[in-house]
Amino acid sequence: MRLVLVGPPGSGKGTQAKRLIQALGLTYVGTGDILRESVRQKTPVGREAEPLLKRGLLVPDVMVNDMVADLFRGPKRPERFVLDGYPRTEAQAVSFDALMRQEFLKLDAVINLAIDDEEVVSRISFRRVCSSPTCGAPYHLVAQPPKVPGVCDLCGSPLICREDDLEETVRRRLVEFHKSTDALLDHYARQGLVRDISALASSESIFQNILKSLPPEPGPRLS
Ligand code: AMP
Repeated sequence: MRLVLVGPPGSGKGTQAKRLIQALGLTYVGTGDILRESVRQKTPVGREAEPLLKRGLLVPDVMVNDMVADLFRGPKRPERFVLDGYPRTEAQAVSFDALMRQEFLKLDAVINLAIDDEEVVSRISFRRVCSSPTCGAPYHLVAQPPKVPGVCDLCGSPLICREDDLEETVRRRLVEFHKSTDALLDHYARQGLVRDISALASSESIFQNILKSLPPEPGPRLS
């Protein structure tokens, strides 16, 4: 199975990606993770990307296209995968289509996790993380609150709102998301690949709806 996951921050995309990986044995490819690692390692790509990541802006198409092409042309080429955060623009999708053709691979579906912007902002406003760099435990003020308000259960450090989760950053990321995603989804709709899944249900039922929407995987060849 070869999937692309599309959804704004706060749509539960990361959670669904993890479930798909476990259930279907897929390789996770997340361009956000690769970029954050490049920033940590201070590579040339990381240095260029850092200010854009901080402001919630997209990095240039050519940068992520090259990063993904290196991965698919390298010795660790993923065969069955879920892509999280890529392609994010129509130009990236065109480049990825060409890469897939060159590598004789075919996408099976593009899962679109649909959710209203205001719902995203409200969901993210409940997120907190432990401020200790060695702990960083995540909390949710409603679904998973700390025992003592504002204090980490595990190490006692104060809880903070991640810079990524500040309302201003979230709204900026949503604007960026819509600017590029409509054309991206149109691109894949023309290929008959888009599966629209509401992200408003429970994590389990979203997951079941995704599974139901997928084409059957070809079984092992007998003969
Ligand atoms: P994510 O973890 O997928 O939300 O990505 C975090 C940040 O990495 C984004 O806000 C962008 O700055 C950058 N990024 C990740 N993937 C892409 C992409 N496909 N195109 C452009 N920028 C990206």
